[in-house]
Amino acid sequence: MLETSLPVQGGCFCGKVRYEISNTVRKVVNCHCTMCRRTSGAPFVSWLVVPKTGFRYTAAQPRHLKSSTEGDRYFCKDCGTPISCIVSDNKKYIDVTLGSLDKPEDFEPDSDFYEDSRLKWL
Ligand SMILES: [Zn+2]
Ligand SMILES: [Zn+2]
Repeated sequence: MLETSLPVQGGCFCGKVRYEISNTVRKVVNCHCTMCRRTSGAPFVSWLVVPKTGFRYTAAQPRHLKSSTEGDRYFCKDCGTPISCIVSDNKKYIDVTLGSLDKPEDFEPDSDFYEDSRLKWL
C-alpha cells in the first residue's frame, strides 16, 4: 500500500480542483457508510487517510458541504467530483478520495469501515 513514492497528485473530473499529497499516507480504507454512498452515487468510497500537513490544493478550492455534525465534505463546485472529507474527531487528518488520484492503482485499501451498511451483493 505505501510503496509509492510521494508526492502524488490528483484532482477532479473537470481539472479545476487539483491537489498534492506530500506526506505519508496513513491508511487506505473502503467506507460503506450511507453518507459516502449517497454523496458519491457509488456503492462505497475508497479513501486515503493523510496528515493535513502533507496535503494541499494546488489550483481551485473545492466547495464545502457540511454532511453531518461530524463530517465536512469537499467537492468540485463545477463538476461535482468528491475530493475530500474531514472528520471532526480526527482533525489532524484529511481523507482524500482514491478515485480522484491521477494514479489510483498505486494504492490498495487494507480495511473496511461501516461494514454493517455494506451492500449485500458486494
Ligand atoms: Zn471539477
Ligand atoms: Zn463513509
